Amino acid sequence: MNLPIYLDYSATTPVDPRVIDAMLPYFNESFGNPSSIHRHGQIAEAAVESARETVAAALNCRPDEVVFTSCGSESDNLALRGAALAMREKTGADWILTSRLEHPAVTKTVEHLAKYHGFKIEWLDADEHGMIHPETVAKAICHETAVVSVMYANNEIGTINPVAEIAAVCRAQGVPFHTDAVQAAAYLPVDVDALGVDLLALGAHKFYGPKGSGALYVRKGTPLVPHLTGGGQEAGLRAGTSNVPYIVGLAEALRLTVQERDARAAHVRPLRDHLIGALLESIPDARLTGHPVTRLPNHCSFAFKDVDGNALLQALDAAGFACSSGSACKTGSPEPSEALKSLGLPREWALGSLRVTLGAGTTAGQVEAFLSVLPEKISRLRQLHSA
Ligand SMILES: *Cc1c(COP(=O)(O)O)cnc(C)c1O
Repeated sequence: MNLPIYLDYSATTPVDPRVIDAMLPYFNESFGNPSSIHRHGQIAEAAVESARETVAAALNCRPDEVVFTSCGSESDNLALRGAALAMREKTGADWILTSRLEHPAVTKTVEHLAKYHGFKIEWLDADEHGMIHPETVAKAICHETAVVSVMYANNEIGTINPVAEIAAVCRAQGVPFHTDAVQAAAYLPVDVDALGVDLLALGAHKFYGPKGSGALYVRKGTPLVPHLTGGGQEAGLRAGTSNVPYIVGLAEALRLTVQERDARAAHVRPLRDHLIGALLESIPDARLTGHPVTRLPNHCSFAFKDVDGNALLQALDAAGFACSSGSACKTGSPEPSEALKSLGLPREWALGSLRVTLGAGTTAGQVEAFLSVLPEKISRLRQLHSA
């Protein structure tokens, strides 16, 4: 089968062969349970603790501040549920500050905390580029705030938020600050000390690691209630026998990402800039969504007036290009995404969204090929739309 050219690296990435090599021994040769006393267990435990040190070095934190989880979503859940419940117990604070532009792993979790645990949500306004400003957080935060969550970089529109400045606002108020860095980690520095964050979520499959493997940075002293109870794994915060090969895979993928970050960004950035420039020039009634400058170096996102975004994705797939409408979880839904709605995009634009995200395998030839088919697909769909 002739698979389409992959232009959807924000949805997921292929696993780096070097990561697979690092993982393989832990499926069979060194299959022990890290909690076991015998030597099989000791070997597995050494692998997990070595992975923890690798992740800690990448994040510039202590190994005991790294919690391994099953995915980026779980990391967001543990951070928000854990901090909200612990802070309310400690201080009585019961407000959560976040925005509608967050990934559903955050928005659905805070809505769940509101519905079943009585927390109150304040949705922070973003500017027209989907950026959350520190002044907005400063105005909203108070002694009743239990936790603040603002993503590092947006998965749908690529905008990078000023998380260090937002973290400083939260620090001054003594409120824990969580950032979802699942999309950001592939290209942006994740030095948690420089960022000043208390909680930071990662998911390995967004940076050439395996799906189903995540991590949460928890700054020492951040109050956190465990969300998976059972054996005492992960310092009692996340029970369950450690997924040794996937933990090893996440650590190796993150190590390589930090080491090769500049080269990876230098590969995709000119391709991105060319794609955005050429597309906006060749297609009428098209606009870039998200920030024009402060955006992920591999990320292009657009809105086209009077185009059915889902039909566009199908047409592109048939023509040999795998793209997205912005959020993998929204595919098939006729409603514009919450993120695009919250940008104030009119409905006739917001329904015609397209996300094109580049990565290690993207070539200039692929971008040219994409640019050569897109205008015709758009005008065909516009004819259908007006018919
Ligand atoms: C992909 C993604 C998630 C979810 O991560 P999983 O590992 O797929 O659960 C959360 N937040 C953002 C910003 C993402 O891009």
